[in-house]
Amino acid sequence: MNAKMIAITVLAAFVSVSAALAQTRSGQPQPQPTPQPQEPKPYGVPEGYMIIEGDIIVPVDFYEKGEPAATFTTFLRLWHDGIVPYEFDIDPSSPGYVSPSRRNAMIQAMADWEAVANVDFVPRNGQSDYIFIQDSDRNSSFVGRQGGKQVVNIFNWDREFIMAHELGHALGYWHEQSRLDRDNFIQIIWDNIPDDKKHNFQSRQEGGEYGPYDFDSVMHYNQCAFSNCSNCPDNNACPSGGRTIVVKPPFDTQWQSAIGQRNHLSVMDRLTMSFMYPEPNWRFLDLSCRCFLLNCIRAGDFFCPYDDMADAVNRTPAGGTLWLRTPGTYSALATYNKPMTIRCGYGTCELRGQ
Ligand SMILES: [Zn+2]
Repeated sequence: MNAKMIAITVLAAFVSVSAALAQTRSGQPQPQPTPQPQEPKPYGVPEGYMIIEGDIIVPVDFYEKGEPAATFTTFLRLWHDGIVPYEFDIDPSSPGYVSPSRRNAMIQAMADWEAVANVDFVPRNGQSDYIFIQDSDRNSSFVGRQGGKQVVNIFNWDREFIMAHELGHALGYWHEQSRLDRDNFIQIIWDNIPDDKKHNFQSRQEGGEYGPYDFDSVMHYNQCAFSNCSNCPDNNACPSGGRTIVVKPPFDTQWQSAIGQRNHLSVMDRLTMSFMYPEPNWRFLDLSCRCFLLNCIRAGDFFCPYDDMADAVNRTPAGGTLWLRTPGTYSALATYNKPMTIRCGYGTCELRGQ
């Protein structure tokens, strides 16, 4: 009888919150072109680009092109090996100049992501793809790596997690309330939103909504975002006190006034970022795979999970971790010839024998 090492650790992570990523894939119906009014363009937004959803920089033809075409490759826009070269505007005569103390503040926001994912912000040393961080009258960022120089514009230098929010965009996050499943959790109060701001509340086409909806996400709007009512949420002349986002029961008690926090990364902000920028020996399994296989960079990663348990186990490196991407029941009991860890990514996973 062969002695086989059975050294599998099964850790079901009973995590109860959500993800902060809205991912789009191709093959979905193209939305009708809906030209949108441009918001005023603050300093630092390049020619040919505009701001949507308050702080996301996209090409001016973003809506005309249709969202799937514009965004389905988001996961290909991850930073290679999690390395994000950065430069500050250090020219004192430039309107975008960043003082040394502000640079330090931003580096702290970078450290918040570095602490939770395999992400490394490094001073640029000739790399062609990098973020260029500058002072502006408003915060804004692209979503994901664009190729070449891409700006991150900061106004709130004294708000660590507003800066972390902008870096979250640069790393690949969209806004949490743009998820396609958001209507199960929140209600948009359209009457309180000016017509020229309504486009900021579009939900994304087809999502890879990873994990449960995350009211606590640093990528979520606050309850008064884009409200045309002064003194929101206490304006009795407006519906819902002027709120633009009303949290649905039973979540409202806990989350109505808490959404839009900018003082920490939520559990799911951290977890999903760690999946997007994983440890090298992490692999992922999803029996109901929703990945976009044609664009897989590496089979078994978060966006291209394996869809068969035995295959996934075989391919996970010795000493590595296999993440079960969706809650559910998995047939996992077997004889393993290498040490590895199986963990449940979101929610609860049950492991059973064959
Ligand atoms: Zn944002």
